[in-house]
Order: sequence, then C-alpha cells, then structure tokens
Amino acid sequence: MHVRPAHLFSCWAPALVLAATLFPSGAFCQQPSQHQQILQLVEQHAAHFSAISKTIWEYAELGYREEKSSALLRRELEAAGFRVQSPVADEPTAFVATYGQGEPVIGILGEFDALPGLSQAATPDRSPVVADAPGHGCGHNLLGSGAALAAVALKEYMQQNHVAGTLRYYGTPAEEGGDGKVYTLRAGLFRDVDVVLEWHPASENVVSNGGMLAMNSAKFLFHGVAAHAAMAPERGRSALDAVMLMGTGVEFLREHVPSNSRIHYIISNGGAAPNIVPDTAELYLYARNPSLVVLGEVWNRILKIGQGAALMTETTLEVKDVGGTANVLPNDPLAKVAQRNLEEVGGFHYTAEEKHFAEELQKSLPAGGAGDLDSTAVIQPLRKPDPNAAAASTDVGDVSWNVPTIGFETATFVPGVVAHTWQAAASAGMSIGQKGMIVAAKALAATGADLFSDRQLVLDAKSDFQRQLKGRAYVSAIPAGQNPPLNYRSK
Ligand SMILES: [Zn+2]
Ligand SMILES: [Zn+2]
Repeated sequence: MHVRPAHLFSCWAPALVLAATLFPSGAFCQQPSQHQQILQLVEQHAAHFSAISKTIWEYAELGYREEKSSALLRRELEAAGFRVQSPVADEPTAFVATYGQGEPVIGILGEFDALPGLSQAATPDRSPVVADAPGHGCGHNLLGSGAALAAVALKEYMQQNHVAGTLRYYGTPAEEGGDGKVYTLRAGLFRDVDVVLEWHPASENVVSNGGMLAMNSAKFLFHGVAAHAAMAPERGRSALDAVMLMGTGVEFLREHVPSNSRIHYIISNGGAAPNIVPDTAELYLYARNPSLVVLGEVWNRILKIGQGAALMTETTLEVKDVGGTANVLPNDPLAKVAQRNLEEVGGFHYTAEEKHFAEELQKSLPAGGAGDLDSTAVIQPLRKPDPNAAAASTDVGDVSWNVPTIGFETATFVPGVVAHTWQAAASAGMSIGQKGMIVAAKALAATGADLFSDRQLVLDAKSDFQRQLKGRAYVSAIPAGQNPPLNYRSK
C-alpha cells in the first residue's frame, strides 16, 4: 500500500492547493521541505561514504572478483537496516539490499569493479600504486558508494516520515565487460521494480537520459587440421585462414551497415608457429550500434560471415563467450524530474588545494583537452539522446529495457579527463571525486523521494517506457543457458 507522508508537500493534486497557498511563486512542485530533509540526510552520511569510496578505491578489484568491495557495501547496508540477499543470480559478488515493503518498488544501481592496469595513486602525475595492477579508472568505487549513500539517506527519510514502499540497492558486479546486470535481470531480480535510478562518474554534471551503444561481443574460434606447412600443406585445414577471411568479410560488411555502427576485433589466437598449419585460431570481435534492434540485424550478418569463412576453409566454427548489452532507453518524465533535482542540488567549487591538483593533472592531457575547472559548478541543460554521439556501452542498458530507468553523471573527474584513464583513477581516489559523488547521491535521493511521494510520476514513467519500447521486445545476444563469465579476464 502506498502512503504519502501527511505532513510533507508533494506534487499530488490534493496537496497542490495547500502548496500553492504556501508557495505562491509556483515553486511548490520542487517540494522544498521534502528535499531539505533528504539532502540533509545525505550530508550527514557523506563523510562516512566518502571514506567507504576510498577503501573500495584501494581494493580495486576486477569484475566478479569484487569480494571485499561487495562485502563492505553489504555490511554497511545491513548496519543501516537493509535486508541483504547475497549472493544472487549465480554471481558471488552480486547482492540485493532491501528496505520497506509494498509499492512502489524503487531500485538504485551500484557498481564496484575496477579496470586492469590502471593502478594509480591519488596524485596528479602517473604513479601506479602497484605496477600493472587494477585501478578505478571508471570511478566505480564512487558509483557503488554514492548509490549506497543515497540509499541509506532515503531509507532514513522513509523511516522518519512513515513512507510506504520498497527501496532496493542492487549490488551489480562486473560492469566492465562481464555483463553482470544481464544475469541479475535473467534471475528475475528486477521483475517487480517500478523505477530504477543510477549514476555514473564523469567530468560534468548532467542528467543522462538514454543513449550509449548496444554492444555484442564473441570469440569466433575456428577448428581446422594441423599439418606441416611445407611438407604436407594439402593435409592442413587452416583455422587462421578462416580468421583472416572472416576479418576480410567484416571489412566488406562495414560498407553496408548503418554508419553509426562500430565493429572492432583482434586476432586473439593466430596459431603457434608459421611452419604448422594452425588447427585453432580465434577472432575476438565487438559490434555496436545505438539501437539494440539494428545491432541484432548487423550481428546476424557477422555470424553468417563466420559461417562462410568456415565453409571456405573446411574448418568448423565455435562462437563462444558471447557478451551483450543494450543501449539505454530514455525516459522523459523521469528526466524532467531528475533535471529539476540536479539543478536544485547544484554543482560544487574546488578548494585552492583541489584547484592546484586539477591544474597539475590537466598538464598531462592532450593539447586542447583540458576543460574549464569552474564547470564543476554548472549543471548542464537536459539533452536529447543523440544516436550519433560518441559513446561506450553499459549493462545499465539492459535494465532500461526492462524497467523505466533514469541516471545522472556528475563531475567526479577533473574537467577534460575521460573514463578508463589513470587521470580518472586519480580523481576518483580523492576529494574531487568524492564531491561529485555527493552531488550524485543527493540527486538520486531527492529523485527517490519524489518517486515515493508522487504516484503519478511513477505512472508517467511507466507509460513513457511503453512508448519507448514501441512494442519491441528486449532480446539479449547472450544465449539463454550461458552462465555468468566469472573468469572472463583470464581467458
Ligand atoms: Zn567503464
Ligand atoms: Zn563505468
């Protein structure tokens, strides 16, 4: 049963008359008293969760191996009064932390995996803590901790105001290439969720309303027959030939796919020695497109090219370790509220010390790459999803095809710094990253509070979600029986 806190203002129609009386300027829909309380709760826990983010930054664990990071967040949420279910979805580091009961069900996504080779001290020059070790170059230490900060504040807010409904924190492992959320979706863990909120570290403050690229990946492993390459080449059936022909086929395909597609590959196994006809060889390929549906069509053609290469060379093809993530669907009603809340929270300024750090760090960026340091105080205007914008891929996309989803990006990285770099890892391990994280937590918590108090907003989000789907079904390229690739980095 959904209960609105009686003493708080909301955008519900019966409250409008009262709110309009008290806030004749018309600003009543910004729910001033409600947000003041929730923002204060975030403030109260901000230092604690900044410290948690630093600890996870130090752990820097790779996808599906985030044992310590996951355990720390589980302990924190449990101590804050959440019921923790763990592990889930055959993923040892995945968990769900729940508070409350009934409708609506609001989920907040948390990630905590690091990237290989990006170990970096919190210094403005390249300085690995441990050479070649993982580091938080995508800022997921902030992502997981900031989402937990929002969840804990929102839980206390619900408790203090007797708000009905269910709040869930999803501990989702292996975002970096492990498709962790696809498996949690398949396990049915999002089935009853009304709206999902998420955020990601970035170098500006902006609502992320859809976008990103749908992406499929697979290893195309060809099996042939080995032979002496000089003495009996006619006995050999070269798996490497198949790999080369598949690559050539893909190059010709490039002309006949929508121009905003991306196809990239490596030869992950090219044989053992030139004088042995390779009996195994492997092409490791990614394909992307802004639309999951268009990507599916391109992917089918790539599979045919693989089959053609096998036919030409009398080898056999095994398509293995299939990965797939969807593009992120926008949700306009949620984006509008998210924008309003992010503007209400506002950005932040650097201290003199942070400014010095940022200026030193920017010296390592390519010419013209340094951004305006004052831009951390700015909230960018709401953008329309641009299918031609440069973008990466995320398993948040799969969630967005199943549940209405909205996200934030905040300026955790020094302006001009892009994710997956040592500069991003450095920013994520110090106060600059933590300040951005707190902005994100406030925006998430305020939006969560709105969703719990405004039934119409949840309904609007759901109808916009149906409109976005336009009758299309969510289809993942990952085969139904495939288990989470728990050792995917060692392959
Ligand atoms: Zn990343
Ligand atoms: Zn990331």
